[in-house]
Amino acid sequence: MTVGIATMPFVLMYHSVDTYEHDPHLITVSPDRFDRQMRWLQARGLRGVSVRELLDAQAAGSARGLVALTFDDGYADFATRVTPLLVRYGFTATVFMVAGHVAGRNEWDDGPRKPLMDHQQLRAVADVGMEVASHGLRHRRLPDLTESELHEELHGSRDALERMVDRPVRGFAYPYGVLTAREAEAVEKAGYDYGCAIWDEHPCRHALARTYVGERDHRLRLTAKALRHRLRWRTRI
Ligand SMILES: [Zn+2]
Repeated sequence: MTVGIATMPFVLMYHSVDTYEHDPHLITVSPDRFDRQMRWLQARGLRGVSVRELLDAQAAGSARGLVALTFDDGYADFATRVTPLLVRYGFTATVFMVAGHVAGRNEWDDGPRKPLMDHQQLRAVADVGMEVASHGLRHRRLPDLTESELHEELHGSRDALERMVDRPVRGFAYPYGVLTAREAEAVEKAGYDYGCAIWDEHPCRHALARTYVGERDHRLRLTAKALRHRLRWRTRI
């Protein structure tokens, strides 16, 4: 199923919320800045929700004012910092977990090593309403994989996560945001309800475009990003 341009959801992309000294890939937002970004959403009458909730609301015709919040990789700070803050705002979010690195670290990255959520943390965030979705098994670039490796990344990651959180896993985010038509089709064929990309070339339900949010995104830059999305896709957010 293709998402019409008029219904392209506004999906923000984060990775980690933590204090930091060195962040070469710009994946970390400080807790104070993140709090102010959530306050900005609330002040505009917007509510942060998981992608699942946003797509369900769109299908029901009630998505006005909803913005999807997504967090890639499954850093432990999603459980320790992000979730408690979102709960305070009455928001939810989607976390895309690297299923083969539960309780491990971001070994695929050449930046600073950061801990990832463990089984109990995944279960706990799901229990308070966060959506746990898949980011593959080992954070590999899907276009480089054989058919059977691709199958294992898509099915193996979902099976593992569903066992851990005891809930259906409906979403997938492409590691590094890289995909071709083959991977988008495989994600859909594997039975995922939606897929998150990063860039907005050929966006569809299985390659939703997302808007990067970083430390430098204060009020004015967030307003500009929201406006750009609205003009580009003619949505009402
Ligand atoms: Zn990632």
